[in-house]
Amino acid sequence: MKFTLVTLAGVVASASAFSASSFTGKSLVGVPSSSSALDMKYKVAVVGGGPSGACAAEIFAQEKGIDTVLIERKLDNAKPCGGAIPLCMVGEFDLPESVVDRKVRQMNLVSPTGVEVSIGSTLKPDEYIGMCRREILDQYLRDRAQQYGAEIVNGLVTSIDVPADHKTNEDSRYTIHYQEYTEGSKAGVAKTMDVDVIVGADGANSRVAKAMDAGLYNFAIAFQERIKIPDEKMKFYEEMAEMYVGDDVSPDFYGWVFPKYDHVGVGTGTVVNRPAIKQYQKAIRDRAGDKIAGGKIIKVEAHPIPEHYRPRRVQGRIALVGDAAGYVTKCSGEGIYFAAKSGRMAAEEIVALMKGGSRLPSQAEIESTYIKKYDNLYGPTYAVLDILQRVFYSNNGAREAFVELCESKYVQQVTFDSYLYKTVQGNNPLDDLKLLGTTIKSLIGGYKKAKPDAVFSNPEESKKRI
Ligand SMILES: Cc1cc2nc3c(=O)[nH]c(=O)nc-3n(C[C@H](O)[C@H](O)[C@H](O)COP(=O)(O)OP(=O)(O)OC[C@H]3O[C@@H](n4cnc5c(N)ncnc54)[C@H](O)[C@@H]3O)c2cc1C
Repeated sequence: MKFTLVTLAGVVASASAFSASSFTGKSLVGVPSSSSALDMKYKVAVVGGGPSGACAAEIFAQEKGIDTVLIERKLDNAKPCGGAIPLCMVGEFDLPESVVDRKVRQMNLVSPTGVEVSIGSTLKPDEYIGMCRREILDQYLRDRAQQYGAEIVNGLVTSIDVPADHKTNEDSRYTIHYQEYTEGSKAGVAKTMDVDVIVGADGANSRVAKAMDAGLYNFAIAFQERIKIPDEKMKFYEEMAEMYVGDDVSPDFYGWVFPKYDHVGVGTGTVVNRPAIKQYQKAIRDRAGDKIAGGKIIKVEAHPIPEHYRPRRVQGRIALVGDAAGYVTKCSGEGIYFAAKSGRMAAEEIVALMKGGSRLPSQAEIESTYIKKYDNLYGPTYAVLDILQRVFYSNNGAREAFVELCESKYVQQVTFDSYLYKTVQGNNPLDDLKLLGTTIKSLIGGYKKAKPDAVFSNPEESKKRI
């Protein structure tokens, strides 16, 4: 395949084009807040109440024959996150406008030498990138799962007993050990719960993944400061997000300024030089400079971001979704949509296999439905974004070229289409060909103009990965 930015974006988009969701979106009116567990034969536990867990629990809860429990350690959790979501997520997951703080319609890309390219002029008036605060989004999704009938337990899962015969014996159940918290008390009470199916939606440090021996993945560390800037400075970020590239802000990713309700999220991430994350964070603050000057840091947050899938995502009747499975794309670092989508997909497939709660699914069945469908739909997306990250974020010359290429309206159109809708229309072969020439010219020009990347000594997290 010829390599151009747009050809790749087209592949990403068509690979990730989704069919209409089978989510019933049943009206919540008249839905019982919980069904009697006595009528239900099997119990499903969803561990983790972020987007992947809440979207899984909502589907299980709608199946009358299944008793659904969602266990979340912190019901007011504010997941460290940039909070950018594609427009299609709002419609597909029926999100109210109230969960979107800001509608970004312009994105400033800033190169290592300070060249700025503003993208967004190809957007239609009703198109935007949604900016959310995770405490608002997650709470909304969890509340909805509860309204559909999921029982929410405020508990920290500490370990899971996985019986040796769980892959072959339907009668063997999993025992979840957790600390349950009740309102007004800081000390948890140690409890256990026996369940038939577990969905691990507990993020990058997943206990479920550990218990089922899912294997390890490489991860980036991402850092973000929430900075409250003066109102007049906030006006600049009203509908604007910024993305900075350069080895000063990250040797293998990008730094961002994302607008939120009353502040901006300023952050960066890296895999190859994690010990220097604070140095990169200072650099992104410096690059944003006067635009955020005088701001007050109101929250500092950091968290791992998975770099690729876990070696094993299903074991017996335990399945991983979202970050626990490793579903964040390279290049953009996007994980919220894929978390929600994988949670929903896994639950829909398992519910179908359980036939009204009359039987249990096998590992082979979960793999040949949820895993197969997810990989068919998104596998090429992960692969292509991995290539784009390797090509465009690996040195300052390529980063200059990346920003220059984004001046093209054609690149902007295809990039936005593939991000906002996970689909693309009207790729033009002639424009693709022209872009190939421009890409080569930009790469040559970028290498001439850019300063070589600073060398860092970090033998453990070496540049091998990129
Ligand atoms: C700094 C940063 C910026 C990012 N920016 C973006 C962005 O702008 N856009 C985007 O799309 N993605 C972004 N991501 C990625 C995104 O945050 C994740 O992909 C997404 O949150 C994954 O959702 P999840 O539901 O799988 O896991 P999580 O959101 O991590 O949710 C896991 C939940 O499980 C709970 N939990 C964990 N352990 C236990 C336990 N033992 N017992 C009970 N509960 C437990 C946690 O409290 C949490 O609520 C960013 C990530 C970081 C770190």
